[in-house]
Order: sequence, then C-alpha cells, then structure tokens
Amino acid sequence: MNIADNIAACRAKLPASATLVAVSKKVDGARIEEALRAGQTVFAENYVQEAAQKWPALKARYPQVKLHLIGHLQSNKAEAAVQLFDRIDTLDSEKLAQALSKAMKKTGRTIPVLLEVNIGCEPQKAGVRPEDAAALLAHARAQGLAVEGLMCIPPADLSPAPFFRALKDLAGLLGLPVCSMGMSADYEEAIRHGSNEVRLGTALFGARSE
Ligand SMILES: *Cc1c(COP(=O)(O)O)cnc(C)c1O
Repeated sequence: MNIADNIAACRAKLPASATLVAVSKKVDGARIEEALRAGQTVFAENYVQEAAQKWPALKARYPQVKLHLIGHLQSNKAEAAVQLFDRIDTLDSEKLAQALSKAMKKTGRTIPVLLEVNIGCEPQKAGVRPEDAAALLAHARAQGLAVEGLMCIPPADLSPAPFFRALKDLAGLLGLPVCSMGMSADYEEAIRHGSNEVRLGTALFGARSE
C-alpha cells in the first residue's frame, strides 16, 4: 500500500478546486509522514488527545500543514482544540460556540469553523438539525466566530445523494462557501452533488484497525 499513489489516484478523481482532506485518525506518525512527503497539506483528526500526541512534532517540521477537527468536541476541550487545530468542523451547539469564542479570546488565536449538520436528522448523531442551522450560524457570528461552511455525514444505510444535495442547498441558502461532504466510500458521488471538500481516510491510508 503506497500512500503517495493513493493520494494521487484520489486527487485525479477530484476537480482541481476541491480540497482533499487526509483523515489521519488511528494512523501513526510514520505513515502520516509519507503523506506529508507526497505533498499532502490538509489533514483531519477526530480526537483532541490523539492529535495532541501526534501533530505538534509533525507541524514543527511541516509548518504549512492545516489540521481540521472532524470529531465531536466537548466544550471543556475547546481551548486545547483551538491551540492545536486550524479549523473546527464540528460546531453544533450554542454552548460550544460560546466556549470556542472564549477560548479564541483567551489564547489570542483565531481559527474558522464549519457547522456540522445532522442532515439525516438521526437521533443518535451529532450535528445541528438543518432547520436550526440558520439560528446557530447567527449565534456563532454574534460570538465573533468565522463560519466558513457546513459539514455532514449522511445516514449509513441510505443512498447518500439526497443528503448531499440537501447540504449543498442549505449551504447555498445560508451563503456559506465550504461544503465538506464525501468520505472514502462516496466521495465521487459527493463531488457530483456539489461537495468542494472531501474527507478521505481508508482510501488513502488503508483500513483502520479499530
Ligand atoms: C473517519 C472519518 C472520515 C474518513 O472516513 P473514511 O471512510 O475512512 O474515508 C471522514 N469524516 C469523518 C467525520 C470521519 O469521522
């Protein structure tokens, strides 16, 4: 399994304007470094603690890297997340917006965010309900946060196309440019439905041992 080849193969299936985010959860530093050496610059992690162990050393050597948080964030970890990440993609509550705003003021470090939308309205899933996204956007902006777009994970066992279309429509309605959707199994379909940012783990690094 050659990570550089995987990156090139996926990149070739994306429009030049789309961002390829390498999801490096459960991937060790040596394999992440293969991706870095191949020129990959945007990465994402799911857990603050795991990222804190792996990334400060890598970022010191690859300062151009951008690291996104794509896992659920608890308000009490907002300050650590703001220090470590370059964007938070999982803002889904007013409480978290307040915590992030406070953390940015305290640390003097300002980073943008995406709203995570529970696009399938699944009871067990994180994310703001589509009908509540406009209110959360207004609240986040009132707190001084720079909201760049929306992120979603469609329901696991349904065809994702209608959910991709719904997120794209919502981003348009709210006037937000970034539409982060599509993972290893469905990124080409996501691109067809308006994604401009895909998050690929397995397709680049192989299956994760969880
Ligand atoms: C793990 C994860 C991904 C990557 O999933 P793959 O199927 O391995 O590409 C993308 N987005 C989120 C939010 C994830 O948690």
